[in-house]
Amino acid sequence: MDLQNYMEIVVQSKIDQVLKMFPKCCHCDVCKRDIAILALNHLPPKYISTEKGKIFMQMEESSSTSDAMVVQEIVKAIGIVSEHPRHDG
Ligand SMILES: [Zn+2]
Repeated sequence: MDLQNYMEIVVQSKIDQVLKMFPKCCHCDVCKRDIAILALNHLPPKYISTEKGKIFMQMEESSSTSDAMVVQEIVKAIGIVSEHPRHDG
């Protein structure tokens, strides 16, 4: 089965954009992955078929309200990760 969680795509596409607003937060790959995991665990998964046309169809359907929800969860995750980074420095 070619299934993918659409939320993963959205979170990954927004994470850099949101991190720019938090210059004090570490931008390394470890922290970025932690932020993505925390955000995704609080967002409802949205599974899509990875067949090309369907991805675009689903993207059209995604509303700006779910975008705002994604940004909100990323911001919360950044707060948690910047207070408890899993590495020194
Ligand atoms: Zn880091």
